Amino acid sequence: MKLPIYMDNHATTRLDPRVLQAMMPYLTEVYGNAASRSHGFGWAAEQAVETARAQVARLIGASAREIVFTSGATESDNLAIGGVVEAHGGRGHVITQATEHKAVLDTCAWLEKHGSRVTWLPVDPEGRIRIEDLQGAFDEEKPVLVTILFANNEIGTIQPIDEIGALCHERGVLFHTDAAQAVGKIPVDVNRGNIDLLSISGHKIYGPKGIGALYVRRRNPRVEVAEQMHGGGHERGMRSGTLNVPGIVGLGAACEIAGAEMESEAARLAALRDRLQARILAGLDHVRVNGSQEHRLPGSLNMTFEHVDSETLMMGMKDVALSSGSACTSAKIEPSHVLRALGLGEEAAHSSIRFGLGRFNTEEEADYVAERLIDVVRKLRELSPAYAEFT
Ligand SMILES: *Cc1c(COP(=O)(O)O)cnc(C)c1O
Repeated sequence: MKLPIYMDNHATTRLDPRVLQAMMPYLTEVYGNAASRSHGFGWAAEQAVETARAQVARLIGASAREIVFTSGATESDNLAIGGVVEAHGGRGHVITQATEHKAVLDTCAWLEKHGSRVTWLPVDPEGRIRIEDLQGAFDEEKPVLVTILFANNEIGTIQPIDEIGALCHERGVLFHTDAAQAVGKIPVDVNRGNIDLLSISGHKIYGPKGIGALYVRRRNPRVEVAEQMHGGGHERGMRSGTLNVPGIVGLGAACEIAGAEMESEAARLAALRDRLQARILAGLDHVRVNGSQEHRLPGSLNMTFEHVDSETLMMGMKDVALSSGSACTSAKIEPSHVLRALGLGEEAAHSSIRFGLGRFNTEEEADYVAERLIDVVRKLRELSPAYAEFT
């Protein structure tokens, strides 16, 4: 076993060597512009892009023409939410929920500042929205868009997507989901879920960084999205800019591999995660698992270690890459908005750790992490006056 151990796969994943291999020709000799129609360099690039478009589409049950390539899930979220609202006259009622990624929260906050009405649904203690709350928000004012995260990046909780989609479809409201953590890890089907727009990120599925996609439904209904990037009219006018051919090829390969290996890999990761969780729970008291254990991504584990500061804890195990809360907010140490939305107090939120297991983690690594963590938590608690008083 090699140190350090990487167990922060919700923040980003390692590029799969098979993905790099697929990309290599497009980083070297096949360098044409996919929009060049007048020569073979362009045709070769375009062909590679169309192959990748089909690979991405297949993973989510879409058709290739419904895939728009972007720079990542952040851009896809901005394009979906901003683009739909703009296509509906620039303002309207948007429904979202408390544990979204910042890419959705901040986009909705921007819309709110610019004249739209935004409903921020709460979540239950497991991190899932209640369908009654969504119905209630529908009744107040018909929304132009509902945007609800597929699976959360901090706790792994999976939302009741099929029920949300069914309700949106029944009421004739567009449904967008940020599926950056779900795609490639669990089955995602845009038709079963009545999903109209869906965001994907390359680097969360062992593909390259800086590439992503937005699924935009073309039939029943045909979704209108106003461009947020103006230029040459690439990607059916929805996203201008010369296509990132190597990145797109990498995203396609990553989707292909994730789809082929999903069933076995999900089972392996869930077993690994359950083993890690069980060992930690057996070794320590005053520990809690955050989020739903029933509706959870296979590689996700988020735990609160009472009377231990998570930053100090991570400092004590420097040979393991973990995260406290969301990587996007860890530059400024503020309690995770996701854990707070579950009802955790500020102190508990500051005592929580996210374990993100991925394709390259082994059983040996999980056992090492459990052992180190139990050791460090015990030592820190021995030094803690609050814990001494508490026990
Ligand atoms: C990582 C992530 C994003 C941002 O994706 P980028 O491709 O890095 O822009 C958005 N939403 C969720 C749920 C994520 O996990």
